[in-house]
Amino acid sequence: MNSKELFEKAKELFPGGVNSPIRAAVKPYPFYVKKAEGAILTTVDGDELIDYVLAYGPLILGHQHPRVKEAVEEQLELGWLYGTPYEAEIKLAEKIISHFPSIDMVRFVNSGTEATVTAIRLARGYTKRKKIIKFDGCYHGSNDSLLVKAGSAVSHYGVPGSAGIPEELSRLTLVVPFNDVETTEKVAKENQDDLAAIIVEPVMGNAGVILPKDNFLKELRRIADDVGALLIFDEVITGYRLGLGGAQARYNVIPDITTLGKIIGGGFPVGAVGGKKEIMEYLAPSGPVFNAGTFNAHPVTMIAGLATISELERDYVYETANSAAHAVVKAIEQELVSKFGGVVNHIASMFQWFPKVEKVENYSDAQKADRALIERLHTELLKRGVFIAPSMFEAWFTSAAHASDIVERTIDVISEVAKVLQ
Ligand code: PLP
Repeated sequence: MNSKELFEKAKELFPGGVNSPIRAAVKPYPFYVKKAEGAILTTVDGDELIDYVLAYGPLILGHQHPRVKEAVEEQLELGWLYGTPYEAEIKLAEKIISHFPSIDMVRFVNSGTEATVTAIRLARGYTKRKKIIKFDGCYHGSNDSLLVKAGSAVSHYGVPGSAGIPEELSRLTLVVPFNDVETTEKVAKENQDDLAAIIVEPVMGNAGVILPKDNFLKELRRIADDVGALLIFDEVITGYRLGLGGAQARYNVIPDITTLGKIIGGGFPVGAVGGKKEIMEYLAPSGPVFNAGTFNAHPVTMIAGLATISELERDYVYETANSAAHAVVKAIEQELVSKFGGVVNHIASMFQWFPKVEKVENYSDAQKADRALIERLHTELLKRGVFIAPSMFEAWFTSAAHASDIVERTIDVISEVAKVLQ
């Protein structure tokens, strides 16, 4: 069956035809993958696509990296689920702790969503307070407490949050603009006695890419300390994407709790919560805050994560991924920004173009950009063999597999598309 036929069938089986909403945004129907290798996705229709989505972030080594594949294959010989501790979880935790300045202890879970659910519960349990500050347009997974003015697919489909979340819970989530120290401080002080945590994507990656200004993250640290709340960095995207120590090492700001996911599982389902020992020990069984999971610290995930992070310790990965991003950004600026205007926000190997606006420093700036143009760009690139996210409220990602020939092909396609894009 081809993609069109498969999607017709899928619509009978899954709400909207998919198992995660953004996948249905590829029009007129999503393509189905036959296989993936390096930077290339091959579809069941026989098309080869250069992949700038990389499963929305995890695949910083590209698809089927030989080291990861070999490690997983070796693991399969030993079994794949034990329900009891396994040495690989210790090795992966030790690596993460060695790279992330704020992390003394870790709890592995199965998704970024589980990580933020657990982080919020932990912050509430530790501080014995209820309220949370989050930033407009930040996305922290499909977490009831945080699905308020969230980015990613929530923005793409234009919904304010989600039905099914009690108002009593949403009311505990206070939303302020990213990069706005004054408002954050005001709201934090007004809720001083009941503020458990400030949670932030240190670089926003779910409203396009939005960078923190000057001392924004340092100021969040100060504000959290002033009111006795915890600072949570959601590094599900930025962890290992911006470098070995994530955003916290890059910006030199130490959060109390960090959530990780995506890259640390090497392409297998994963999430993690990390932080200071004193806080982490509030988690069961050493403390009163509950978290558990049949699949927590899944052996295959631990092994794939370990192989991935070991590879990241070799300089070529960041060099290749970052220089690919740099070259593609330059091409977008030359071919597209020159014609349509706008700004490309870029850091390391993630970026997004916001057409027709001069700057994007927060979510309301992003909403003023021409998102429909990005959706048309997505369609035109896809027709010519380049796959980017179907929404402006996502990022382009590059990987160690985006070698110079792949980048050159992409740049040729971008200049071709620039001639026809309206
Ligand atoms: N936090 C951030 C910053 C994310 O980007 C995402 C997913 O895109 C999540 C949390 C949720 O992760 P998952 O999709 O693994 O549940």
